Amino acid sequence: MLKKAMHWESTEEKEDKKVRCLLCAHNCVIAPGKCGICGVRENRDGELYSLIYGLASSVGVDPIEKKPLFHFHPGSRVLSFGTAGCNFRCPHCQNWEISQCGPEELRLQEIMPAEAVEMAKRHRCEGMAWTYNEPAIWHEYALDSMKLAKEAGLYTVYVTNGYINEKPLREIAPYLDAANVDVKGFSDEFYKEIAGARLMPVLKTCKLMKELNIHLEVTYLVIPTKNDSADEMRRFCEWVANELGTEVPVHFSAFHPDYKLASLPITPSGKLKEAHEIGRAAGLKYLYLGNAALRGFGDTVCPKCGNTLIERSGFSVRVLGGIKNGRCLACNRRIPVIGV
Ligand code: SF4
Repeated sequence: MLKKAMHWESTEEKEDKKVRCLLCAHNCVIAPGKCGICGVRENRDGELYSLIYGLASSVGVDPIEKKPLFHFHPGSRVLSFGTAGCNFRCPHCQNWEISQCGPEELRLQEIMPAEAVEMAKRHRCEGMAWTYNEPAIWHEYALDSMKLAKEAGLYTVYVTNGYINEKPLREIAPYLDAANVDVKGFSDEFYKEIAGARLMPVLKTCKLMKELNIHLEVTYLVIPTKNDSADEMRRFCEWVANELGTEVPVHFSAFHPDYKLASLPITPSGKLKEAHEIGRAAGLKYLYLGNAALRGFGDTVCPKCGNTLIERSGFSVRVLGGIKNGRCLACNRRIPVIGV
């Protein structure tokens, strides 16, 4: 459905009817009849419109662990929504069939916010997630939906590249409970090459999410030869430790060849374990290795006494008896897991 967009302005030269979208850090200047980089926000005669309000490309019930969120309502089910388009151009995107397409190229299902919330309840989900493609470009719809979700007692989640601007992030923050931010690498060159974007806005979003009390976990997809040097991963881990804190869960995920990076190999498990060691040395307390069958590396362990508190295997999760009200029962250390 066509909907007047939020977060834009006319450019200084009003007579050419160009607009500047202020939703994400690209700040696209868009001529009449054209879309911004994301392909879903169009200038119609000098006004900006969202082309995707209430239009879903994908809807599914997922375990929250799939996002991945490991410290947020473990074992719960979340109704997940995706639409068309993305503001990044990652050549390894696992969801490129929807993220690299405009809305006119996909068969989209109309689901208005109230119906989306109703669906989540009907499927006995505890929450709703905007995921599969970049949720920030669906801002108007996600915002309306999450307001209703909160009224209905559901939690809300973004799985995001973190490119949203400060003002729209502050706008959704009161209704957004948790986010997983995908940090794609730790150099500006890498971001420019791989995503057509910049690193700094992503880091700014992570810090602001913490400040706004949105539960935050970060994911770093380890891509062989692209962002897997010990130095780059160390700088990432040290930045997380210093700027977000050592209690923030960090997920290192294995790359699987796809889309335009189909010729690269799968990330070797040795490289993932190296990332884990680097994270430990940086002082990070909760490190997880994903997309790989590595026994024990998905478990939540008390950093003080070593007690295993939550066991995970694939997407199956078992909260053991050692954690209650966010504390390890063996040593009373605070364990930042919401919902247990
Ligand atoms: S949301 Fe889309 S149109 Fe707006 S600035 Fe970002 S990429 Fe450009």
